[in-house]
Amino acid sequence: MQHFPIFLAVAGRRIVVAGGGETALAKLRLLRKTEAHLTVFAATPDAGVEALAAEGHIRLVRRAFGPGDALCAVLAYAAHDDAAEDARVAALARADGALVNIVDNLADSAFITPAIVDRDPVVVAIGTEGAAPVLARAIKADLETRLPPTLGLLARLGKAFRHAAEALPMGRRRRDFWADYYFNSGPQAIDKHGEMGANVALDLLLGHHLAAGDRVGHVDLVGAGPGDPDLLTLKARKALDTADVVIHDRLVTPQILELARREAILIDAGKEGFGAAMAQADINALIVRHGRAGAHVVRLKAGDPTVFGRLDEEIAACEAAGLSWRIVPGITAASAAVAAIGQSLTSRGRNSSLRTLTGHDTRGFAEHDWRALARPGEVAAIYMGKKTARFLQGRLLMHGADPATPVTVVENASRPDQRVLSVTLDRLEPALTDAALTGPAIIFYGLAPREALALSLPADPALTPLNEALS
Ligand code: SAH
Repeated sequence: MQHFPIFLAVAGRRIVVAGGGETALAKLRLLRKTEAHLTVFAATPDAGVEALAAEGHIRLVRRAFGPGDALCAVLAYAAHDDAAEDARVAALARADGALVNIVDNLADSAFITPAIVDRDPVVVAIGTEGAAPVLARAIKADLETRLPPTLGLLARLGKAFRHAAEALPMGRRRRDFWADYYFNSGPQAIDKHGEMGANVALDLLLGHHLAAGDRVGHVDLVGAGPGDPDLLTLKARKALDTADVVIHDRLVTPQILELARREAILIDAGKEGFGAAMAQADINALIVRHGRAGAHVVRLKAGDPTVFGRLDEEIAACEAAGLSWRIVPGITAASAAVAAIGQSLTSRGRNSSLRTLTGHDTRGFAEHDWRALARPGEVAAIYMGKKTARFLQGRLLMHGADPATPVTVVENASRPDQRVLSVTLDRLEPALTDAALTGPAIIFYGLAPREALALSLPADPALTPLNEALS
């Protein structure tokens, strides 16, 4: 980040603008939203600038900007569209101690003016460090449609009510009250009865929350999906929005953790101390401890929590502790991985059943019905199979599987570093070891990437390097 976004206190302070043309006027339109004192220096101002002066919105000084004109000003804009004149103004204003912006000259400016979405007191500032003004405008347009026009009013009323809301204890109960107001009762009341309605709603809501007493904790067992934040369900997003504590697996990506409520406590249950995995009993105890303390706990698991997620043990712990719980499903790794190779997990005439296997279980390499799997047309999605590939390969071949059966390994499915390794059963090892995968991987037994897809992706870094290395 080359520019750090802040909100500058300008109410009652001076901002000077040098220039009286269209460029200056555009800046003045924005600056008029503030409570700053605006002074414009222009020898020959345009009619628009004259009009602002006539209406008393700005003080207009009908001469060129000179030494000392930016004294006590927090900001100074050089807005002449004339490089030499703007440079002269900038040097003088800097000497007066103001932060200087030369319009459309990023390099010589001390600050930039963002695109603004104004729902005062809620203000969204969008900046691209000059890289893509078109993008900033598109984001602004998007936010303008998404944020209701009443948001500002809601926030102003809320601000005036802050003192009253202190009757609720700080922390979770007060937060619940505000969440209820901003996202539920407040907008409804404004829609129906306007400002009066929102004020009444605040009073009623506070009474309601005061009467409700302490809330007990709750545990959401949430699927985080395979890694791409866009593959989170809306329910998972909402749970993350309101979580007090997020206890997550090692496989949950930072981009997803980023979405947790800013005040939430994040606990990595995949690691402890110097990297050893936290024991399941300790994770259960952690969930229960936070739940009992009244927290909304999100137990965030990679993929779908019901697939190889030791979910039953965590549910049993919640029930034993008398905590309410809910499962929020997620997209399992096999779904994301099969999408990456353009295939379907089941297919008419090929396989009418799908096996979901784990390469190893708590006792080591997992045994399966190898004879059944070895039959032609079988398809299996193998989780946690990287280290057990040689064992799987040996067992399957031993039970009569065709050595030419396609096997596809998808590493980091749905993530930017996704890679695909396509081989046959007899070549699975040492190919897999040679490929030295470092991320989580799904092994599809009985599935090859769709041919058309493989052909259409010769330049795709996700598909080529491994396959080339192996051919
Ligand atoms: N509950 C998870 C599975 C947990 S077991 C789910 O539904 O996906 C952990 C295994 O999941 C890993 O060893 C790997 O086999 C698989 N896995 C998880 N995320 C993956 C990803 N993004 N790409 C490929 N495999 C993944």
